[in-house]
Parts: sequence; C-alpha cells; structure tokens
Amino acid sequence: MNKPVDFGAIKGDCVPYQKPQPWGMTPDMIQYDLIDGDERLWAPISEGIWSRPIHLNVTGGFYVHLLRVRRSGLLQRHRHSGQVHAYVIRGKWLYLEHDWVARAGCYVFEPPGETHTLVVPDDCTDMVTLFTVHGALMYVDPQGNSTGYDDVFTRIEKYRAHFEAVGLGADYVREFMR
Ligand code: FE
Repeated sequence: MNKPVDFGAIKGDCVPYQKPQPWGMTPDMIQYDLIDGDERLWAPISEGIWSRPIHLNVTGGFYVHLLRVRRSGLLQRHRHSGQVHAYVIRGKWLYLEHDWVARAGCYVFEPPGETHTLVVPDDCTDMVTLFTVHGALMYVDPQGNSTGYDDVFTRIEKYRAHFEAVGLGADYVREFMR
C-alpha cells in the first residue's frame, strides 16, 4: 500500500519542481499489489482465464492489463491492429506461428498486422503476463474470418459488468481510466 514519503530525510539538491504542471494534463496513476492484491479485480474472461485492468486509456486507444491463465491449451487466435508489448511474469505461453516460447522474465513485441494463435503448454498451470495492447484484438478463425474483437472500450464494458457483479460498482472502472 501507499507509504508516506519522509521529506525530512530528503536533502541537498532533492528539490521538487517549482512550477505548475501544464494545463489540461491527465492525472498520474499508480496501481498497487498487481499480482496478489484484491481478487475482485480479476475479471473472468472464460474458464480458467482472467484479466485484471491496470490502465485503460480511452484517449490513446490502448489498454494495459494482466492476463492470468490457470489452464493449458488453446486460448484464442487474433489479429492485431496496433502494437503490443508483453512482459511475462509467471509461467509460459507460445504462439503456434512462432518457434519461441515466452517464459517468466521475457519481453515480447507483437507488431501491428500480425495474426497468431495463443497456447499455454500442458506443463504450465499458472501463467501471468502484463500486456499493453494498442488498438484492437480481432478474433479470427484459421482462415482469418472475423469472429469478434476486443479493444479498450469492450474491455471497459466487461470490467464494468464484473465490478458491478462483485459489489465494487460498475464505475469502479474509472480508477483505471485516463
Ligand atoms: Fe497477440
């Protein structure tokens, strides 16, 4: 949780910026206890798959979330309209279209335009990855035919429904929005 800063212990040239911040600037954000915090923040996506919002940016059209998977096998196939940055925190996963396996400690860049099929291998029962997703995930069949999509706005709707269901209230999603 938030610890108050001991400003008396800060000396020398450790002086805060003295001028006002620019007009119109968006408020900063800090999220605590991302992995082992309040379980109510983990919205179920489907059996054994959850998403915990970190930052839902409706102006930039991107979202940052933690994906947690506690089952193995095929998760989904999707095409990206924008860039994706991933940092694997626990477990491992792979794309059927690539010969690498992303494991804890890995960073992965997913370029706009790529279509890939996400799989958690059989020997992994607990995967957590931080994803920053720009634009949309367009879900497709193996031939590229569209079967749905997700973007920051569909994520917000799903988090709203989940937060309402667990008693936090739908508008709790605003905590994560900029
Ligand atoms: Fe992807």
